[in-house]
Amino acid sequence: MKQRRISKLIRIGTVNIGGNSPIVVQSMTKTDTRDVAGTIRQIQEMAEYGCEIVRIAVPDKEAAQALLSIKRGTHIPIIADIHFDYRLALATLEAGADGLRLNPGNISEKKYIAAIVRAAKPRGVPIRIGVNAGSLPRSANPKVSIAKQMVEAALEQIRLLESLDFDQIKVSLKAFDVPTTIKAYQLIAEKIPYPLHLGITESGLPRAGVIRSAIGIGVLLYQGIGDTLRVSLTGDPKEEVIAAYEILKSLNLRERGPTMVSCPACGRCEVDLIGLARSVEERLAKMDSPIKVAVMGCVVNGPGEARGADVGIACGKGRGAIFRKGEVVRTVEEKDFLEVLMEEVSKI
Ligand code: SF4
Repeated sequence: MKQRRISKLIRIGTVNIGGNSPIVVQSMTKTDTRDVAGTIRQIQEMAEYGCEIVRIAVPDKEAAQALLSIKRGTHIPIIADIHFDYRLALATLEAGADGLRLNPGNISEKKYIAAIVRAAKPRGVPIRIGVNAGSLPRSANPKVSIAKQMVEAALEQIRLLESLDFDQIKVSLKAFDVPTTIKAYQLIAEKIPYPLHLGITESGLPRAGVIRSAIGIGVLLYQGIGDTLRVSLTGDPKEEVIAAYEILKSLNLRERGPTMVSCPACGRCEVDLIGLARSVEERLAKMDSPIKVAVMGCVVNGPGEARGADVGIACGKGRGAIFRKGEVVRTVEEKDFLEVLMEEVSKI
């Protein structure tokens, strides 16, 4: 694994991004932003699963004004996602946005960007230049690859922000196509000092979207590229947060919450291992201690993995041996697997 690219440190609300800071997990609400209570509820749930920064869509003036009340009801930094109308950026800054996301494909005129910078700079609010392959600026050169067009769109807006003496910048270059996304980030990583927000856009429903995101984001993180990430899924935002941490944990970049080891189960297994693993995963989901739990189907690999975890179970015929910190602490019947295993988890 390559050493992490050192980027410029910026701060969104209370959260540091870039430099040597931990890689930050973000997600986006799926509620109508004008529904203040519903949006606050969703943000709180995302925060419970470890979301560190949340982005909200601001499609109109009412949504921009709602930000004020949403900010009062939540404790994690909020980024306002702005398209087309620079005045919405100004309104969300007034309402207390901690960060802005602008799309150079639909807000690029210097006078509008200058107005946003004049409002963002004294408030210490960073701007993400969020390039999306699906909404490239009209000026993009169709003769070069999409990855290069995305990079050029970002560089153009970076130059514009720098010319306005603004450097609290974060950049994302998202495409649905994984190799295009990887290429775009690789190209820009060598050209700019700013932190990079990773993601594969429109990656689909969770089953395929998690895989696409894990491959795209995982390759980049392995190459030392990336300071923050969002897994974009057509689904519940807490699933995005869970997937983001699983990607980071897989590369040993963050520790958060339990890690579950479970065997695939096969013809040797004589219990309902899949049902047990699902129930254990559900019960562990909201815990934030980095505990390792093994759920194993038989004596082939079961005792080895269960012994190596903080808590584990190695199942046999209708019975299972429960391990804690490498020792067998109990042998229980199948009907008691879940409760006893969770009891041992709670002791840790
Ligand atoms: Fe099959 Fe046992 Fe391996 Fe699980 S641990 S996959 S049940 S051999």
